Amino acid sequence: MLRIALQSKGRLNEKSLSLLRDAGIAVEESDRRLLSRSSNFPVEILYLRDDDIPQTVSCGIADVGIVGLNEVRERGFEVEVMQHLGFGKCRLSLAIPKDIPYDGPEYFNGKRIATSYPGILGAYFKEKNVQCDIREIAGSVEISPSIGLADGIFDIVSSGGTLIQNGLAEVEKVMDSDAVLIGTPGLPEDKLSVVRILQSRFTSVLRSKGKKYMLVNVPNEKIDEALAIIPSMKSPTLLPLADKGWSAIHAVVDESEIWDKADRLKKIGAEDILILSMEKLII
Ligand code: ATP
Ligand code: MG
Repeated sequence: MLRIALQSKGRLNEKSLSLLRDAGIAVEESDRRLLSRSSNFPVEILYLRDDDIPQTVSCGIADVGIVGLNEVRERGFEVEVMQHLGFGKCRLSLAIPKDIPYDGPEYFNGKRIATSYPGILGAYFKEKNVQCDIREIAGSVEISPSIGLADGIFDIVSSGGTLIQNGLAEVEKVMDSDAVLIGTPGLPEDKLSVVRILQSRFTSVLRSKGKKYMLVNVPNEKIDEALAIIPSMKSPTLLPLADKGWSAIHAVVDESEIWDKADRLKKIGAEDILILSMEKLII
């Protein structure tokens, strides 16, 4: 039985559970117990505050966990980062009041910076040889300059809207973060084999994100041109139609490129372009 630690509530909870479900692992929707077992896969789920996940995995109370890379780096516990999961994307940045001129990290010498990430910030300033007064606070970091608690902040940024609302400008990005699968260093082979299945299922789920299945009918003499427009993952499927002189091409296409490809295919005489949702892409 593999024990996996997930955030009990908060930004990563829903997406972590969806990832498990999309990977075919049954997890009860309403199950808010601390520990619950999947009914169809050898995992049990331990629900924790995200702050506690790196330590819990590091010491082996959970074998693996899903948590933001920012928390992994901040806590500093020894864990193996096994897979980037692509959700919970954000960055950790320094920001100062927007009207103050900024000329590089030396600006922060002697300044007071409010943050919930003193470890990451301390390491960054050490590397930059900057001496500043790091004030650790648990929340509402972004209001600290306006109430006189700090000269700047170091915090999570995604769209940047919160900074703007608080009259702040982002001046240095220190790290990018996304949700990662972490594991206890040196897991035994029986557990590792379950982790490998999990990882390969996660990869399949992540690969199918943003992809669509395209079917298009083309005159046979236009097949080469059409294939140049829709390069596929390996080789696209090509099927003859009952109507002689025509073929159907099936291919997996990035959702963002569908309209562009459809317009170009129509221009060379393609017809009946069908776009279907793709649930899984198992390679
Ligand atoms: P907990 O109660 O579990 O301690 P929390 O309040 O510390 O939760 P959340 O706000 O739920 O944390 O954020 C969890 C993680 O989600 C963060 O550590 C970060 O990796 C990611 N994250 C945070 N804010 C954003 C954002 N605005 N956009 C995208 N991802 C974010
Ligand atoms: Mg937390």
